Amino acid sequence: MPKQPDPTLRCRVDRDALAANWRALDKMSGGANAGAAVKAQCYGLGIDDCVPALRDAGAMQFFVAHWSEVAALAEHVPASSIRVLHGPVNAQDVDYACQTGAVPVINSLHQAKIWTEGGGGLCNVMVDTGINRLGLSLQNLSEDAVQALNIDTLMSHLACADEDSPMNGRQLTMFHAAVNKVQHERLSLANSAGIALGSDYAFDLTRPGLSLYGGTPRSEFEGLIKQVAFPQAAIIQTRHIEAGETVGYSAAFRAEKAMRIAVLSLGYADGYLRAWDRKGAFQHGDSQLPLLGKVSMDMVIVDLTQRPDLGEGDWLDVPYMLQHAAQQSGLSQYELLTVLGTRFKRS
Ligand SMILES: *Cc1c(COP(=O)(O)O)cnc(C)c1O
Repeated sequence: MPKQPDPTLRCRVDRDALAANWRALDKMSGGANAGAAVKAQCYGLGIDDCVPALRDAGAMQFFVAHWSEVAALAEHVPASSIRVLHGPVNAQDVDYACQTGAVPVINSLHQAKIWTEGGGGLCNVMVDTGINRLGLSLQNLSEDAVQALNIDTLMSHLACADEDSPMNGRQLTMFHAAVNKVQHERLSLANSAGIALGSDYAFDLTRPGLSLYGGTPRSEFEGLIKQVAFPQAAIIQTRHIEAGETVGYSAAFRAEKAMRIAVLSLGYADGYLRAWDRKGAFQHGDSQLPLLGKVSMDMVIVDLTQRPDLGEGDWLDVPYMLQHAAQQSGLSQYELLTVLGTRFKRS
């Protein structure tokens, strides 16, 4: 097949901003080192674009959820620096861990047993301190299957770190109660938001994800964390419509006056969800160009009346300051990043 033409959707990933965000989070982590959550293709922004920048900035531990994420990551970092959060759920996973050298996070007694039976070796252990998602209970930690493990990092995960909730203190107390129950080299509790809760929460290793990629889950991050993802879509057609004409599915927008409109090659299949209906707007320089009608699978329609100079082939910015975009759309900052589809050329 011939070389593909450049697509009409692109997302610039600002690697300098990413590296600066990691350094800012590492500094905020005080005496602890910051690792990097790189699951779900670096929250949708792409392993190949992001991981080298994080590695070169100084990150030494990389967290993914699935075993299927290990191989792409191992192109850029040593397998021994990869932590797999979901842990080994069966013997195949155990074999794969042993063969690759990626380190499992053990979440249950079943996982502890099959890890040891399959040959075992260095692992992390997740203890549940109240999120009731993955992890061993405090009582589980005393079981032989857990005592037999060779534990690098004992971890837990905060449920409400983005809020000033009494839950944070309760989880911290419970984590302190866990640390004496098993031998370990290191302790790790805080995600991005947890880093802002202060040095009590930092322990030896923090695990930022969202804020690496420009997310600001708490006000402490404002001014410190830079935008990383800059999506853009090209205009692929323009047209004039008359007063009374309608636009798009369900004829959801009706023109009150004659206007010039543009079709962009961006739709809900690309992660620009229907959540943006009646709220979305695009930008070119200082101009705000409102979304008209409903988002289609592959297209949106935009009011171009303000900018008669723009036409086919011109690029519009999709506003993606995450905190603002989340307020506008009702989507979370996490969702906004991870929904960006594969038709964006990341660069
Ligand atoms: C995803 C994840 C993180 C990163 O969380 P952010 O809120 O994105 O910083 C840290 N730890 C665990 C266990 C996770 O699953």
